[in-house]
Amino acid sequence: MTTTTEKPITLTHWIGGQAVAGTSNRTSPVYNPATGQVTKNLPLATREELDAAVQNAKEAAKTWRASSLSMRANIMFKFRELLNERKDELAKILTAEHGKVHTDALGEIARGMENIEFACGVPNLLKGGYSEQVSSGVDVYSIQQPLGVVAGITPFNFPAMVPLWMLGNAIACGNTFILKPSEKDPSASLFIAELFKEAGLPDGVLNVVHGDKVAVDAILEHPDIAAVSFVGSTPIAKYIYEKGTSFGKRVQALGGAKNHMLVLPDADIGAAADAAVSAAYGSAGERCMAISVAVAVGDSGDKLIEAIKERIPKIKVGAGDVAGNEMGPLITCEHRDKVAGYIESAKEQGATVVVDGREHQFDGDGFFLGLSLLDHVKPGMKAYDDEIFGPVLCVARAATYAEGMQMIADNPYGNGTAIFTRDGGAARQFQFDVEVGMVGINVPVPVPVAYYSFGGWKASLFGDTHMYGPDGIKFFTRTKVVTSRWPDPASSKIDLGFPQTR
Ligand code: NAD
Repeated sequence: MTTTTEKPITLTHWIGGQAVAGTSNRTSPVYNPATGQVTKNLPLATREELDAAVQNAKEAAKTWRASSLSMRANIMFKFRELLNERKDELAKILTAEHGKVHTDALGEIARGMENIEFACGVPNLLKGGYSEQVSSGVDVYSIQQPLGVVAGITPFNFPAMVPLWMLGNAIACGNTFILKPSEKDPSASLFIAELFKEAGLPDGVLNVVHGDKVAVDAILEHPDIAAVSFVGSTPIAKYIYEKGTSFGKRVQALGGAKNHMLVLPDADIGAAADAAVSAAYGSAGERCMAISVAVAVGDSGDKLIEAIKERIPKIKVGAGDVAGNEMGPLITCEHRDKVAGYIESAKEQGATVVVDGREHQFDGDGFFLGLSLLDHVKPGMKAYDDEIFGPVLCVARAATYAEGMQMIADNPYGNGTAIFTRDGGAARQFQFDVEVGMVGINVPVPVPVAYYSFGGWKASLFGDTHMYGPDGIKFFTRTKVVTSRWPDPASSKIDLGFPQTR
């Protein structure tokens, strides 16, 4: 593990294609979660600093929207190549600030890069429709145009992937972008912005402004920002959606989750246990698509618990930069303690603590917590009702398929879900009935590939469009429909009737 006793460095914003020092005198500490040390101080922007970035982006938008599609595609291709070359460096930044293990960080970058590959196809994605001769001598066609200055506000858990979900499509569509990353792990955004400059992106097209509620409110209220794409927890997503739309903006706000995995009695229990362990404890459970509740149907419960319990001690927990470790620390000390609190509350509320991650001993001051497994968890218990966002897997029991389905239907979230079964008919019925936006059939973390779109239902998404893919292009453009005629002046005449096709 790399430990450092060096003085924390002070980070900067990225405005107009260059690093810009913060002026607010307010900062937020950035930790290395594996050591517990503060490694950086992050400036938190004022309204005036946010406005300076918006003015820069507004000026850049004038020429950027007029740039050719081939130029935009070429920049995306170049950025994709640079990112691929330097992914190891970016993965180290993710590990140093988020804590996730190096292989998982590389996976995050690969899934983010997919979205840049999608954006490389922008000339094809922005093709409109054309109808010739809708009336005598009249043609109609549609054009997708950029919105202007748009913003992205992102969470701590995917500091590279979630910004890449948004900014490639937004920029390729001809918008200029203000990114407000999570204050907990902000360096990945700066790395991405610098790489875009190297790829030839004109100054001011991509800006990174760090901050907290002050900067977020300034974004939501700013008259020159046309749209806001948000990913984070449900209470903040709701706030962003309500406030952003009340200021006349287009908003998509993706929120939290409580993803259930239904294990039917005919499932291969070994495969289901492997999937549950991977999906519940990967990235220390800090994934919005993590499986947090396994619903064991019929008599599958005891077998599933045994199989998961047997696998847990084999998972190597430790610093993300040590090869071989599979699960790193949590993001902050406070979050680690909050997650640990759910284990205690589950016990008090009648669940069985099969494996208690608090008993796992770690050296040093890192924000580590071992893997926990809770059985007989029920709706009404805090561990069931809340999004824990940590390495705690709850197992709930359901006597029948219908009872399991009812638990999913009654849950306020609808982000991801999965069914494990060998019965194709049951899986198809599940896919038909379940009220969740992303469904896995024997796939525990069904994050759609970049040419589909990502989004939950119910309290997991506020707005109409999903993130990235075709919906991403729709979100970052507006449609103009042109009706065109090149008349012969000789046949021109006055007609006060409402236009109709002839
Ligand atoms: P968060 O909601 O605390 O923060 C997200 C962003 O909002 C950050 O940039 C933060 O600075 C800002 N923010 C926080 N509090 C604010 C406030 N009071 N006013 C204005 N802005 C505020 O989320 P997080 O802890 O960084 O991330 C974890 C959450 O994100 C989990 O709930 C997880 O499920 C969710 N998430 C969802 C998805 C998805 O696609 N649905 C993906 C990743 C993460």
